[in-house]
Amino acid sequence: MSEALKRYKEIIAECNNLSHAQNTIYWDMETIMPKEGFKGHSDSLTYLSTEVFKKTTSDEFYELLKTLNTKEEFEKLSDIDKYCVKEDLKDIERDRRVPADFFESFVRAQNEAGVAWQDAKKANDFSIFAPHLKTMIDMTKRMVKYQYPDEDPYDALLDQYEEGMTREAYDKVFNELKEGLVPLIKKITACNKKENSKFNDTFSIPAEKETEKLLLNYIGFSFDKGTTGETEHPFTMEFSSKDVRVSNHFREDDVTDPMFSAIHEGGHAIFEQNVSEELDGTTAGSCKYLGLHESQSRFYENILGRNKNFWVPIYEKIQEIEPKLKAVSLDEFYEKINFVKNSFIRTAADEVTYCLHIIVRYEIEKEIFLNNVDVDSLPKLWNEKMQEYLGITPSCPAEGILQDMHWSDGSFGYFPTYLLGTIYDGMYLEKITEELGDIDVILKEGRILEITKWLNEKIHKYGSSRKPKEVIKAVCGKEVSAQPILKYFTEKYTKLYNL
Ligand code: ZN
Repeated sequence: MSEALKRYKEIIAECNNLSHAQNTIYWDMETIMPKEGFKGHSDSLTYLSTEVFKKTTSDEFYELLKTLNTKEEFEKLSDIDKYCVKEDLKDIERDRRVPADFFESFVRAQNEAGVAWQDAKKANDFSIFAPHLKTMIDMTKRMVKYQYPDEDPYDALLDQYEEGMTREAYDKVFNELKEGLVPLIKKITACNKKENSKFNDTFSIPAEKETEKLLLNYIGFSFDKGTTGETEHPFTMEFSSKDVRVSNHFREDDVTDPMFSAIHEGGHAIFEQNVSEELDGTTAGSCKYLGLHESQSRFYENILGRNKNFWVPIYEKIQEIEPKLKAVSLDEFYEKINFVKNSFIRTAADEVTYCLHIIVRYEIEKEIFLNNVDVDSLPKLWNEKMQEYLGITPSCPAEGILQDMHWSDGSFGYFPTYLLGTIYDGMYLEKITEELGDIDVILKEGRILEITKWLNEKIHKYGSSRKPKEVIKAVCGKEVSAQPILKYFTEKYTKLYNL
């Protein structure tokens, strides 16, 4: 091993130790920390992240990466090291283009906008958030100009969340999807099906927690390499492939929501738990492509979890855990978890109308970045898009533009990855059917772990070392297309709603 490679690995190991401590503190803070413990945790986190930042942006680290990327050194590296030093150099060059004082003011603006967004949402008043949103838009535009001076700003943002994606590529698949989906949803909602009132009840929180464990085990989450916690917003956090944690929220008035959050986060976690051990602690050791990541969580949540056969082997056990479900037949349960309704809140939407919620956000982001639309006109634009796609108009900002936190920290370009994940899912489904057989049969016979294993082998073990386009090409043998997911939606809902 060359001196440069040795020193590079030492610095990475130091950063990993710091990040491990950072993760532990963050997890503690989100799950069990008492309210007054905030300052201690927050100071410690700031210290640790500053140390990591110093190391990874230092002249020494930069010089090492430049050396390792010279032809002579690069050729001697293993494939994994090649990937890592190339990616790290790209990242450090991007970060070093941002002036330190601008970076600091960006982080400050993010924090302030986050607080303002929460206040605005609580007060249901967009004017509280508007000046901060304007700042975040302006600063994000400046940030990408520094980071990627030669690229179209919105394309650069899209690429940051899912490498290889551009506006042109998104437009192509989203338009393809829209064409088939909008008329399908019109047909479904025209049925005017009634919601099942058996779910308007109070359910047991301990039972919901037990069901979460059952579901995680069932889909292949390893409790030897993971644990669970409780937070207001469910999330997944990975330390390494050997320690991946999921959180969930439990609600007395909603028995199915925590189940689907468990399956969704479980999908993210299974990805991380199955990244090949040799990638642990390297830049490729966790999947950083959000579309690809979301394709896993949404595959478990929707393609598997919203399939009736998923529940066949476990529904009786769940009824034992929550006896109130004994009054609900499996067919009724299946209808409930696939009830389609035009609604205001993205996170509560069914799998079909969910797609349109993302298209609304994507189209607004394009207006912001390509046409410089005025912030004050955004609530109106939001409502018009909701009316156009879902046929409903939010009655207040909390029901509309204020519902998501993403724009408050400048995460423009993030939303489209959710829908891209769903589009990938249709493609995986097609391939799994071809290679493993009918998933209805696999699920009904309780062989779901065969699907998990397939995903482990084809996708998870590579971590970030394969880029999204390479994954899709290698797994599905073709370019991204919305046709498979459209076929899935059409067949499923035509049957379910007798269209
Ligand atoms: Zn997710």
